[in-house]
Amino acid sequence: MNEMTRVSAQPAYSDAASKALARAPKLFIGGEWVESTHDRTLPVIDPSTGREIGRFVDASDADVDRAVAAARQAFDDGRWTGLPPIVRESMIHKLADLIERHADEFAELEAIDNGKPKTIAAALDIPAAVGMLHYMAGWTTKLGGETMAPMAAPNGAFHAYVRREPAGVAAQIVPWNFPMIMATLKIAPALAAGCTLVLKPAEQTSVTALRLADLVNEAGFPAGVINIITGNGHTAGDRLVRHPDVDKIAFTGSTEIGKLINKNATDTLKRVTLELGGKSPVVVLPDVDVAATAGGAASAIFFNAGQVCVAGSRIYAHRDIFDKLIEGVAEAAKGWTVGPSLDPATRMGPLVSDEQHARVMDYIDQGKKAGASIVTGGDAPSHEGYFVSPTIMVDVKPEMSVVREEIFGPVVVAQRFDDLDEVAREANNTSYGLAASVWTRDVSAMHKMCAELKAGTVWGNCHMMIDPALPFGGFKQSGLGREQARQGVEAYTELKTVIIAL
Ligand code: ADP
Repeated sequence: MNEMTRVSAQPAYSDAASKALARAPKLFIGGEWVESTHDRTLPVIDPSTGREIGRFVDASDADVDRAVAAARQAFDDGRWTGLPPIVRESMIHKLADLIERHADEFAELEAIDNGKPKTIAAALDIPAAVGMLHYMAGWTTKLGGETMAPMAAPNGAFHAYVRREPAGVAAQIVPWNFPMIMATLKIAPALAAGCTLVLKPAEQTSVTALRLADLVNEAGFPAGVINIITGNGHTAGDRLVRHPDVDKIAFTGSTEIGKLINKNATDTLKRVTLELGGKSPVVVLPDVDVAATAGGAASAIFFNAGQVCVAGSRIYAHRDIFDKLIEGVAEAAKGWTVGPSLDPATRMGPLVSDEQHARVMDYIDQGKKAGASIVTGGDAPSHEGYFVSPTIMVDVKPEMSVVREEIFGPVVVAQRFDDLDEVAREANNTSYGLAASVWTRDVSAMHKMCAELKAGTVWGNCHMMIDPALPFGGFKQSGLGREQARQGVEAYTELKTVIIAL
């Protein structure tokens, strides 16, 4: 692509999507749609056009307090935990079924609001959100405690056991890159563990969370178990983080905000789970099928326009195959057709916002100024939306900002290496530790690298394979705790040790 490339225009929205976008700005609290206590609202912007297409509430402090009070009451009076686990499990399944019933509308709204191609939202995001709810629903009836014997007491003198209890009220703050997946990744384990919750989607992408709220009562949840409020992070989000009636914070977003939230949650010593940024290496050994690996490396960075916490944003390729691999990634980049989210031909939509677009273009500029060469891309195709071409940079040095910092756009930097020790050192030379991938048919080298790489997830001969049954989270400054799997539900529980003298 070059400076003159134009992308096509955004097709018309469906009637169902237009109706959802035209909703009056309200909050879902205590099982009802309520007005805010003030009249501040925020715009819904279609990133494919840059145009405002709706408004939603920017929650006030009083709104946040009301949502927390609803969740607190629903937890304390036992209307959720008091239900038989199988009844709670069925409601979570029902919510999943209702989303599935409206899957096409959810996919379209996600595409309009976030910019991702509707084809991809329909094939991936919405089914993944439904799958997350179904997977986690099962834990409702499977979580349990343990019976143990005190080591220093005669056998039979005490009956000791460990109860697993819900943590209480969870505040869940999510980002804009996968709005539905992030929302369900948060609410599903909290509900399974017996918590009540307040979810706050990102201010860039609140549309599908509000549509999800429409389905909560139909699924049968008692009032106040699931509350969904919208608003700015530094106001509504911050109020949730500091609120004395919130027991647990689950956050996904930038490392910068994650650190701030961890600090702000300290005064009330909340339980905190953080899933933060990454700068994930893609390590390619010389024995690979270069063409196939190039396609994998391209998908690792260009999927979702690179707005993925686990994006493979640093390629390390062995010197013997470096040139051929980069040629292959550049060739594969041509297949990532840039266009508006509702055009079926689009494989890579715009970035989510004007701000994100400016940020990514600034990084490309910093890279060029520092001496990096652009193999392909580097430009913003001309259109009113927030488009950036798939971009590959070479001739980079470890100290450059494009190598060190998370760009969160379709920009990959590529470097050569000679031996395994060197590449392990360079791949680990980052404050992040979310994910990594290793590409080789050499079993011994594969396992050695998987052990060496400091990351919460290491993939072999694939990238971005994430599944609800497998724990997910970061080493180092990529996070705290794990989501998904048994560990993800347990993160919403407290252990109570009971010791009874017999
Ligand atoms: P990104 O860099 O991906 O936009 P952020 O980390 O800025 O992500 O935001 C992710 C989520 O955190 C959003 O829902 C946002 O509203 C919220 N948020 C931002 N700042 C704060 C804050 N100070 N306290 C609580 N939540 C915040």
